[in-house]
Amino acid sequence: MKENIVIIGGGIAGLEAAGQLAALGYKPIIIEKSDHLGGHVAEWHRLFPDMTPARDVVGGLISRASGSNIFLNTEISFVNKLKDSYNIMLSNGISIITRIILVTTGFSVFEAARKEEYGYGVYDQVMTNRDLEHWFNTGKDKRVDNCAMNAVGFVHCVGSRDEKAKNPQCSKVCCITAIKQAIEIKQRFPEAMVYCFYMDLRMFGKKYEDFYINAQRDYGIRFIRGRVSEVSENIDGRVIVKAEDTLSGKPVKVTLDLLVLMAGMVCSQESTKVANMANLPVDSDGFLKSRDNVTAIIESPKEGVFYAGACTGPKTVPETLAEARAAALEVHLYIKSLE
Ligand SMILES: Cc1cc2nc3c(=O)[nH]c(=O)nc-3n(C[C@H](O)[C@H](O)[C@H](O)COP(=O)(O)OP(=O)(O)OC[C@H]3O[C@@H](n4cnc5c(N)ncnc54)[C@H](O)[C@@H]3O)c2cc1C
Ligand code: SF4
Repeated sequence: MKENIVIIGGGIAGLEAAGQLAALGYKPIIIEKSDHLGGHVAEWHRLFPDMTPARDVVGGLISRASGSNIFLNTEISFVNKLKDSYNIMLSNGISIITRIILVTTGFSVFEAARKEEYGYGVYDQVMTNRDLEHWFNTGKDKRVDNCAMNAVGFVHCVGSRDEKAKNPQCSKVCCITAIKQAIEIKQRFPEAMVYCFYMDLRMFGKKYEDFYINAQRDYGIRFIRGRVSEVSENIDGRVIVKAEDTLSGKPVKVTLDLLVLMAGMVCSQESTKVANMANLPVDSDGFLKSRDNVTAIIESPKEGVFYAGACTGPKTVPETLAEARAAALEVHLYIKSLE
């Protein structure tokens, strides 16, 4: 079918929507600013709760979307509203006239250095959840390679549920990601003591509770309820973490070889840029604002503009894929309504 459908963002949301639209007979156009498809998931190692290799998920999505017109290393320069369509100018000079835009620009990982008290970028042995995924995939990171890995800690809620960081919302995926990463650490370093410092554990998804129980029962991972009050470095370069265990009411002090910060999901500057260009509203949490958050999360308030995935808020992979499928159907029905 001839209708131009522009998908901005070639992460899993954009890819899944493109694959579904291709199955419905369209040839969507994917605009991706980076040099690869798959977005953040292409950076992850294994996906909770089944430990599915992220590479396999992304590979399947890319092959289903392969009939699309794909522009890599390409950004949107501007969006002009015409009478009943949009003119989208790409950074490569190509201009596309379309009646349908699907925004799938995703999220950013919170910049952990903004929480100075945790010492990211200051103490040698502090890394983020994203850095750890990189190490799982490449086996290269001097913070892991140069240490004994006898004791590892995970700090939950870094840059989430935090008024000071201007993000009072829960990022939803980081509790379960911490458990997944803690298990992966124990699989590689069975002798290591592994601690998770949490405020609440949000095990909302299918089989998440089982995953949490396995982490304790089968891997001996220790969960300490309490906010970390102080992080410092000792003379050997190890990290000292102080917290109050709010269940026992006692202070806790541990010395770690590695501290992993569970940085949250925040709206990307890229999404905000696209929103500004296309005159789309931004919600109070910084993510793109849907027509409503109950029945129309994939619809923008603008005619012909739809959303899918983490551009409207923190989401898991299955949630993102489900939204992308729903958005593809919504786009199809919208095109039919124009005939
Ligand atoms: C550390 C961590 C681990 C995670 N692990 C899991 C897990 O194990 N299981 C799970 O279910 N979920 C996991 N998640 C959540 C998962 O990453 C998201 O559900 C998923 O990435 C959302 O996909 P998306 O396509 O909406 O966004 P993204 O992955 O952010 O992709 C967006 C894409 O759009 C592109 N883009 C952005 N702006 C523009 C623009 N202006 N023009 C062109 N292109 C643009 C980006 O380059 C990117 O390719 C994890 C999240 C984190 C932070
Ligand atoms: S999912 Fe867990 S770690 Fe992430 S913000 Fe919510 S409570 Fe904190």
